[in-house]
Amino acid sequence: VFSHVVRAPEDPILGVTVAYNKDPSPVKLNLGVGAYRTEEGKPLVLNVVRKAEQQLANDRSRVKEYLPIVGLAEFNKLSAKLIFGADSPAIRENRVTTVQCLSGTGSLRVGAEFLARHYHQRIIYIPLPTWGNHPKVFTLAGLSVKTYRYYDPATHGLNFQGMLEDLGSAPAGAIVLLHACAHNPTGVDPTLQQWEQIRKLMSSKGLLPFFDSAYQGFASGSLDADAQSVRMFVADGSECFVAQSYAKNLGLYGERVGALSIVCKTADVAGRVESQLKLVIRPMYSNPPIHGASIVAAILRDRDLFNEWTIELKGMADRIISMRHQLFDALRARGTPGDWSHIIKQIGMFTFTGLNSEQVAFMTREYHIYMTSDGRISMAGLSSKTVPHLADAIHAAVTR
Ligand code: PMP
Repeated sequence: VFSHVVRAPEDPILGVTVAYNKDPSPVKLNLGVGAYRTEEGKPLVLNVVRKAEQQLANDRSRVKEYLPIVGLAEFNKLSAKLIFGADSPAIRENRVTTVQCLSGTGSLRVGAEFLARHYHQRIIYIPLPTWGNHPKVFTLAGLSVKTYRYYDPATHGLNFQGMLEDLGSAPAGAIVLLHACAHNPTGVDPTLQQWEQIRKLMSSKGLLPFFDSAYQGFASGSLDADAQSVRMFVADGSECFVAQSYAKNLGLYGERVGALSIVCKTADVAGRVESQLKLVIRPMYSNPPIHGASIVAAILRDRDLFNEWTIELKGMADRIISMRHQLFDALRARGTPGDWSHIIKQIGMFTFTGLNSEQVAFMTREYHIYMTSDGRISMAGLSSKTVPHLADAIHAAVTR
């Protein structure tokens, strides 16, 4: 009965790893997926995560019962505090509902399903370009996806004017997806002044912000600094959605731990919204997994572990910044044509190199370097040892 089923293409991002795994070359390099690697090219389990897991293992009172539909209460509370700030009036006034979801993706999806059921406006604006899964998540939830101009290929920077024009002509009440920091795939963020202008425009038009926070701490190395955009919007009393992921900043990729927060006008509304979120979640996966959320709660509640986390996080962010400088210097040393300063200007995990899909295909074929066809490279997958190989490949690709 399934003989008519046609083979679907690989996911454009995860498919890069599938192709990489098949390549027998000893010099192959995977810069496709956004997962942190050490200088030795190995995945990293943070020390604080190991300590928290040890604590959990030693606690014989812990059981494996189901969590409530909305997840671990303490995790939700601490997650809201992490993104909105310890002194957030919205939290103090109980206007925030936070539910534990399946990492960033699951949080986006639950938020989108809620919006499709309970919000009067179906249109969501997403940046052009954006993370490839965004349009699929929102479309499949029943929203209608439009884009706003974001990246300017000519400057490798923000098309701020275009962004303001597109948001300015959006219908009243439209939902707007914003990357809280470290925009994926471009590595280009608005400045605080620009955020302020975006906020004013959105508030005057009654646009609803939906923040995707997948890289808190990865952009600047500071958890608070990377939450500034979100806090700015919440400070003016606006309602907003935030999807948080602990995949990158705690290295908990496979634990699938994240949270959706909805900031409402009153505590009463927040309570009703939460009751409806439960109806969204229950028939999808019933309730979320306990292990990752317990690790996060153990770290966020304990001052020493929290401080240790911030140091390890800064270590990851700094290593990525150092890779940016090394790659930039290596291209300069080779006299590679072009202005590559965007490599050091862009922030977060990725550099949007400006290489086109043909050049990418050439680098994969001739140099065994794997990346998405839009020319995005994960700086977190590079090391001092592999920078020269990548610089050689880029040089060959652009001088071909
Ligand atoms: N949003 C953005 C912008 C991302 O880059 C990612 C991860 N690549 C996610 C959300 C979701 O990641 P996860 O579901 O693993 O938390």
